[in-house]
Amino acid sequence: MKKALVCGAGGFIGGHLVRRLKKEGMWVRGVDIKQPEFAPTQADEFLLLDLRQPENCLAALNSETGTFDEVYQLAADMGGMGFIHSAETEIMHNSALINIHMTHSAAELGVPRYFFSSSVCVYRDMQPGEPEMTEAGAIPANPDNEYGWEKLYSERVAMAYARRYGMQVRIARFQNCYGPEGTWRGGREKAPAAMCRKIAEVQDGGTIEVWGDGTAIRSYTYVADMVEGIFLLMHSDLEGPANIGCPQYVSVDELVHTVADVAGKRIHIKHIEGPVGVQSRNFSNARIFTTGWKPNHFLKDGISETYPWIESQVKKDRQAGE
Ligand code: NAD
Repeated sequence: MKKALVCGAGGFIGGHLVRRLKKEGMWVRGVDIKQPEFAPTQADEFLLLDLRQPENCLAALNSETGTFDEVYQLAADMGGMGFIHSAETEIMHNSALINIHMTHSAAELGVPRYFFSSSVCVYRDMQPGEPEMTEAGAIPANPDNEYGWEKLYSERVAMAYARRYGMQVRIARFQNCYGPEGTWRGGREKAPAAMCRKIAEVQDGGTIEVWGDGTAIRSYTYVADMVEGIFLLMHSDLEGPANIGCPQYVSVDELVHTVADVAGKRIHIKHIEGPVGVQSRNFSNARIFTTGWKPNHFLKDGISETYPWIESQVKKDRQAGE
């Protein structure tokens, strides 16, 4: 039986990835600094470890039954735009340490295949209508935020270890990912979850606040599609980074209208000052398409799965507060 280690298995994408790997019949160890928040882990074994410490990276990889066949590194100090703009030093410090120590330990212990979760935040800002950017467009580098710089650095760490140790490294640059069991409140939530929460909290005909003027263009990828992309990329021969994203580009206001539609509510938008990030995104998915990957959820399909889950969380929260 193949053995996989998922770092960040207590988080959103990591939790879904564990389930996907279990479906393949693998033995899975999950590692995180915290327990999963919304559903019990499906991992065969779950270790609570702070992966900023090198000895904990070794402990995560240590196994009496031999080296892990596959390591998926998704642990990061991470959040939406609000968090990214206010926690620069935490991101640069914590995520870099995790990646430096985890990549080094995996290579030293002879892990044959290593996955690193990067982000499209490595790219510069774009204007709406610009031609699609390929993976090579990340250089010369000019990410909009420190989160993107850390990802770019950690990609290079992984590629350097691949060259030195012959470890097969696979790197995905994720577009915005959303779905059930993702952070939906507390300051680390991303735009789709924040919009679902705000709309679940207001009455029909109510008003919600949206950061910026609502014109920023994004692509949102449903978590089941993302996890499928990770799996296919990991088992492909694609070296170097590969974008994974749903090629449907919408403005932030269009995201709000989609959520309102699914919720069956009429919503007014009040645009306010806030961290928006880049103006536009338009990336080529040609590399990941060569693995046979394609997204099965356009925005409305994915929001139809996500909104009811967030609405139920909001209701639970309200009942607990009553
Ligand atoms: P998440 O925050 O839900 O998961 C990250 C997990 O890492 C968390 O459970 C957290 O507790 C864990 N972690 C943080 N510090 C740790 C430490 N010191 N030791 C051990 N574990 C630690 O985020 P996610 O959305 O599931 O993202 C997973 C990965 O994908 C991250 O690397 C993220 O940067 C990347 N990514 C996500 C998105 C997205 O839209 N969600 C987009 C681009 C890239």
